[in-house]
Amino acid sequence: MPLRQKAAPAGAVVHDADIRKPLVEIQDLFKVYSTAAGDFTALNDINLQVGRGEFLGIVGKSGAGKSTLVNMITGVDHLTSGEIWVDGVGIHDLNEDEMALWRGQNVGVIYQSFELMPTLTILDNVMLPMDFCGLYVNGQSQERAMELLRMVEMDDQYHKVPSTISGGQKQRAAIARALANDPALIVADEPTGNLDTATSEIVFEMFEKLVQQGKTIIMVTHDSSLAKRFDRVLRIADGEISAVLEDRV
Ligand code: ADP
Repeated sequence: MPLRQKAAPAGAVVHDADIRKPLVEIQDLFKVYSTAAGDFTALNDINLQVGRGEFLGIVGKSGAGKSTLVNMITGVDHLTSGEIWVDGVGIHDLNEDEMALWRGQNVGVIYQSFELMPTLTILDNVMLPMDFCGLYVNGQSQERAMELLRMVEMDDQYHKVPSTISGGQKQRAAIARALANDPALIVADEPTGNLDTATSEIVFEMFEKLVQQGKTIIMVTHDSSLAKRFDRVLRIADGEISAVLEDRV
């Protein structure tokens, strides 16, 4: 399927996208929320590198800062200070519009609550990121969306709206949508949090397969039984990386 060249956003500072370098590099990252009760430091000097093709798990208690961290990596929220580089692009320098385009082209984001557009069919949900970014042209987005739905075994549900399918089916559709623009990086925040055990296993196996195919996946989870199946697990506590578990294969 032809894909137009992904250009770096206009205002971006770009380093060499050297494939020997980590895909994600985070330096001296702080996130401070201003609240009525005063400033609250949700991320306190995070330094992290995520390798290409790595399957990274992030665990920690509720309120530890996991979602804040993934929202920084996906550019959904702005950091307070520090730098985040993804495939050579300094995303800390991007403005809102540049960030939206960059995210659409380069990151597949998957949420616990699926976040499918309720009025659109499953097919249209999967086509949306392609049409937004314009990487696939002349009807190719529909053909590719069906291909992705076939891959997650959802092609027979393409004409339905999200309210008429199960949670597991919604998450499969969300995975297809996350893959729409063929991003190198997939970030998933509690993707199995709303699923039963058997469905969670199916979704997790899909992630394992995507890693085998070369995707880099960062996944937040509460499920400690999954820990040994990641390449590496970070434990976050009080906005800091409190432990790193590696090489447990
Ligand atoms: P986790 O994902 O580990 O449950 P979060 O990243 O959602 O934790 O939150 C980390 C901390 O930051 C929590 O104490 C939370 O209350 C606080 N927080 C998150 N978002 C905001 C916000 N928009 N404004 C103020 N505080 C926030």
